[in-house]
Amino acid sequence: MSLQLKFRYRFEAAHRFLAAHAPSCRTPHGHTWYATAIFRLRTDIESEAKLDEGAMAAEFGSLKKNWKAFITETADHSYLHHHADPIIKTLLQDNPGARLLAFPTDPTTEMISGLFALKLTAMQKAETNPALKNVELVGVHIQETPTNSITFKFEKNGATPKWLLDKIGDAQGWWSQPNVADRSFIRGTSS
Ligand SMILES: [Zn+2]
Repeated sequence: MSLQLKFRYRFEAAHRFLAAHAPSCRTPHGHTWYATAIFRLRTDIESEAKLDEGAMAAEFGSLKKNWKAFITETADHSYLHHHADPIIKTLLQDNPGARLLAFPTDPTTEMISGLFALKLTAMQKAETNPALKNVELVGVHIQETPTNSITFKFEKNGATPKWLLDKIGDAQGWWSQPNVADRSFIRGTSS
């Protein structure tokens, strides 16, 4: 792989883990997160990928703008939560406009990186800019604290890893929608 391209944005968000034993992880708490999208210049296409006339791998344009908006406007100041978190009902009674982002599981850094990578894939698929065919998404790096981070990567053939598909089950939601502001979550029959 000759070139990797990354862009990183910061968001502030809260979460908690229903399955955790430690009271600190079961208590809603916040982090300053950094989400980095990692792309690479494609080498698998017929005429080997080249830099464009401007000596760039790709003009990211609206894809970068939409990814930034998702991180800094939708994910930012949201409560990342297990879809069955019992706090949500009370929170919505008190504040119907609460900024929520539901997960099919506990919102661990593993799941955040995986679902954010799927979100970025959905956004890229909706792009019509031919320059973006030159690059492919490698994955997403999520920095949770100064010492903890996770890098999610797609399989070498671009497939979504089985562990992530297993955790999502048949739930559907914001991660498969290209719309930046989408917060939808539809619980699957298996979750
Ligand atoms: Zn945490």
